Amino acid sequence: MQCRLVSVCVNPESDCFLNMVQTSSYIDVAVALPIFGTFTYRVPENLQDVASVGKRVLVPFGRRRVTGYILGPGKSCDLKEIKCVQAVLDCRPLFPASLIPFFNWISAYYLHPIGEVIKSALPSGLNLYEYSAFRITEKGEHALQDEASGDVEREVLACLRTGSVRLKDIGRILQKNIPEAIITDLEKKGWVVQKNELREARTKPRMERFVSLQNPDVSLKDVSEGRQKIIATLLSGREVPVKNLKALVPNAAGLIRSMQQAGYVQTRYRQVFRDPFGESILPDEAPTLTDEQLKVVTTILASLERGFSTYLLAGVTGSGKTEVYLQLAEATLTKGYSALVLVPEIVLISQMERSFRSRFGQRIAVLHSDLSPGERYDQWIRILNHEASIVIGARSAIFAPLDNVGLIVVDEEHDTSYKQESGLRYNARDLAVVRAKEFGCVAVLGSATPSIQSAYNADTKKFIELTLKDRVEKQPLPEIRIVDLGENRDVRGVRRFITPELHNAMKVTLERHEQVLLFLNRRGFAGLPVCSACGAVIRCKNCDISMTLHRQANAYKCHYCGFSRAFSLTCDACGSDKIKLLGLGTEKVEAAVQTLFPEARVARMDRDTTARRGSMVTLLKGLRNRTIDVLVGTQMIAKGHDFPNITLVGIICADLSLSFPDFRAGERTFQLLAQVAGRAGRGKIPGQVVLQTYNPKHFSILAAKDQDSKRFYAREIDFRKMLNYPPFSRIIQLRIAGKHKDRTVQVAKELGAACSALHKGSKIFYRNLEVLGPIPAPLARIAREHRWQILIKGKRVGTLHRFIRQLMQDRGELFNQRKVKVQIDVDPFFMM
Ligand SMILES: [Zn+2]
Ligand SMILES: [Zn+2]
Repeated sequence: MQCRLVSVCVNPESDCFLNMVQTSSYIDVAVALPIFGTFTYRVPENLQDVASVGKRVLVPFGRRRVTGYILGPGKSCDLKEIKCVQAVLDCRPLFPASLIPFFNWISAYYLHPIGEVIKSALPSGLNLYEYSAFRITEKGEHALQDEASGDVEREVLACLRTGSVRLKDIGRILQKNIPEAIITDLEKKGWVVQKNELREARTKPRMERFVSLQNPDVSLKDVSEGRQKIIATLLSGREVPVKNLKALVPNAAGLIRSMQQAGYVQTRYRQVFRDPFGESILPDEAPTLTDEQLKVVTTILASLERGFSTYLLAGVTGSGKTEVYLQLAEATLTKGYSALVLVPEIVLISQMERSFRSRFGQRIAVLHSDLSPGERYDQWIRILNHEASIVIGARSAIFAPLDNVGLIVVDEEHDTSYKQESGLRYNARDLAVVRAKEFGCVAVLGSATPSIQSAYNADTKKFIELTLKDRVEKQPLPEIRIVDLGENRDVRGVRRFITPELHNAMKVTLERHEQVLLFLNRRGFAGLPVCSACGAVIRCKNCDISMTLHRQANAYKCHYCGFSRAFSLTCDACGSDKIKLLGLGTEKVEAAVQTLFPEARVARMDRDTTARRGSMVTLLKGLRNRTIDVLVGTQMIAKGHDFPNITLVGIICADLSLSFPDFRAGERTFQLLAQVAGRAGRGKIPGQVVLQTYNPKHFSILAAKDQDSKRFYAREIDFRKMLNYPPFSRIIQLRIAGKHKDRTVQVAKELGAACSALHKGSKIFYRNLEVLGPIPAPLARIAREHRWQILIKGKRVGTLHRFIRQLMQDRGELFNQRKVKVQIDVDPFFMM
């Protein structure tokens, strides 16, 4: 067998042979495919020195070649049919061996194939894989010229003339549905052929040319001015990028070439890192901690290096949790360990990054989805090279390749964006605790509104609870007034949702030149366009959901699949032109504020206004520089921002998330409202909040009014216990989704029957588990997919795992349907 080495050796000087396991002619490989288990491959002699744990290999699998990851020495070596590794793809490992038990845990817990777990963990765009593509033959070219073919056939052939194309891309390029039969037919006629091709990895190290002096004694006399400048720069002894010299001397490239020929200088290519950090940040010094902060820091520091423990840091909004994290990280680094800091959202990451960078400078790496694949890859390599000992990032940073973690911080631990909702459906907050346990280190989960799950863990002594009750500057928490929207039902126009109370408070605030934040958790202008003649609602053609009018875009948009259609007041159902634009959205609130306060400078922050890169920063700067008087926004404005001049927060309608058919609806509503309210009065002037609601007596709303997590928890935990919901039970959700309605229903019913047979057939399962469903999901159709679900509920996750594994073993075919996807979600978050 021919072994082609696809070498992507990044840095010629780095020691490629470090980190090597003992040379073995057999290795254990996880392939990047949806297949459980690992596979043994033989390593040919010429690759044995470089095949080490954590590197990628190219291996034959079935009729294809795929990327695999080396996990260790091969398990058994006496099989004859063991296939041979074709190439080692990295010259250095992409993850430390110490992460492998963590990956295995994830695979077993989330019932997800190990190769796919590792693939999700690594920066994207690294995998080589083989795919089959079609290309036109000579005979096909003739057919195209002879006009011997039909219209569709001609289009396909013409499309293939530009190069080979995958089947699924042909339809996309031609923008029409191309039946597979047409291609098969073309293949039979010999007009196209199918070929396997290896796709290149998208992400590669960036290489730049560097120059250095070969002869330090070179004389500066008798040379041109340009050369003098170059030599003077190089005299420092350092290597300088050719790019930098070009900025100094426009014709540097030519000069360097001739100087190199004359033996004055030498050049070479080196890997450089793409820099995701934009602006320069001034260093700062640690402030004196408050007594409360000091107590928290001292307590946690005492357990550093003493094995695994988890702290729940419950600190009110504005209590200085970030400073606690900074000082803990500092102590961790001093002891020679590294620290991992998870932050839920990109905007908050940049704030956290600023704080950490001003304290720790270059020792920071960031990992989040806003980086380009190249930047992400570079940050990853810096961590592997131990050039960064603090990693700050969004949920995927939980996989950061640190091999000596001493501290893991999860800020805003209650935030739902820690849950990954596609592919490997993990919860980074939970994995932080698992990773801390695996590495024997300390985890700190911080929040002003801890999740019920974490509060319960503190209650049952799994976590140690620490509290910060005071704001740092001792500012009082804002005063919150509840306004009953029900009393306003008969009012028409904008005053229906900007009540007299809110209107007056805004007036006073704006007169004092302070700023106002208005919160409504729905974007667009009107969320419920409905025909007043026949009652029909304007629905998305792909989803079972009403569309929202976006006035700025002059279109109805679906918030679930993105489908959009031109605005019109004509009803599809009855033809009348009596569409009424019911339902509120941030656009409508913005327009209302403009009407009521024509002088005020109003801005809006939601997904529509922040889609462009940098627009979010512009808005935040506007707030900071006080060029915005009133900011209207969705939950984007709820999180973490700290603007001292915002003294009034208006919550337009607190109830939107309360009525969701989800047992966490109350928890989410409480957290969101308490967080939004916490944006008020963070400077010297005390803040106030006007909270408008149709449910003024609901305990989630009353608890948010008092910012009282404890009281909320006490009520909510009884409700969970009564109905046997998490944390008193565990849930695994099976999601069944497909475009074809009958087929989806059929798979859901078959899977349901299989669950129920398995459930009834075993005493252990019957006694300890409940099977609920199959039922259509509350959002029964999204993006043309019909959605069904089955919930399996039980006390112990181990029993649930056994149940699903048995189900997959008995009825594997149901999980591998081509047209209907069955996805497993362990500890699901969104039950919709
Ligand atoms: Zn109608
Ligand atoms: Zn839709």
